[in-house]
Amino acid sequence: MATIIDGRAIAAKIRGELAEQVKSLASAGIQPGLAVVLVGEDPASRVYVTMKEKACQDVGIFSDEYKLHVETSEEDLLALIERLNNDPRIHGILVQLPLPAGINTEKVLEAISPAKDVDGFHPYNVGRLVIGKPLFRPCTPYGVMVMLKEAGIDLTGKEVVVVGRSNIVGKPVAFMCLQEHATVTLCHTRTRDLPAKVGMADILIAAAGKPEMIKGEWIKEGAVVIDVGVNRVGDKKLVGDVEFVKASERASAITPVPGGVGPMTITMLLYNTVEAAKNRQKG
Ligand code: NAP
Repeated sequence: MATIIDGRAIAAKIRGELAEQVKSLASAGIQPGLAVVLVGEDPASRVYVTMKEKACQDVGIFSDEYKLHVETSEEDLLALIERLNNDPRIHGILVQLPLPAGINTEKVLEAISPAKDVDGFHPYNVGRLVIGKPLFRPCTPYGVMVMLKEAGIDLTGKEVVVVGRSNIVGKPVAFMCLQEHATVTLCHTRTRDLPAKVGMADILIAAAGKPEMIKGEWIKEGAVVIDVGVNRVGDKKLVGDVEFVKASERASAITPVPGGVGPMTITMLLYNTVEAAKNRQKG
């Protein structure tokens, strides 16, 4: 049976380290600050924003919340971002996605100063990741990399197969694995013979958003399985993109859903915010 890679435990350890770093920044008169911007009333976004703020409080990061009406104009949102870019209390700016229809998401993300782009979505930060000189890395894929490191898994020369090519998970995690000297295969809906591709993986990273679409029998004996997928089935149950029980019989290590990658995402947002404060201190 596979070892479980426990995202909650790794996240708790990193949050403890961040709380210590926040204390030592405080002795230099600095408190990392995160601005969280939410436009509209989307219930899932509200939950995420509340979780992010609570996580900030727990490690001592100052969080400033901006809840804007669903009919806020793009112009007003851009003006707020400009104010936050120039606000010395704020080291990181997070605009909760999705934005309401009528607001150009790309334009908004590009308005955030790259030095405060703790979500790592600004094209400047994406470009830095691609050339192997990252400043801020997107939080979910960065969380995946930290989990692999904490689980003692070296990527050098390994076959990594990523299922999903989104800008927020699949593509950035592929570049991060490349940076760690893996040989990376990036799969998507037009990929031919997905079971064969998955079967090559020493390390499989599933980020397709399709409940249990990756069958346990596809997994190579001894592979490491990182399941980014979070899919609600029925009223309450959450499942990943991988058939967990069957995959556990073949994999050497696997992340559960929930309790795997999920807790790492907010942790890496906190990490990036503390880094942003340290970068400003260094000048
Ligand atoms: P997304 O934007 O919907 O992208 C899904 C990707 O998977 C696309 O590239 C798509 O290919 C590919 N795909 C879908 N079905 C496939 C299939 N049958 N075979 C091969 N490829 C397939 O999703 P996302 O935002 O990257 O999120 C992926 C999953 O991660 C979701 O379950 C999401 O909830 C979860 N997630 C979790 C966290 C967390 O904190 N744990 C954070 C972010 C996302 P095409 O490009 O060809 O359409």
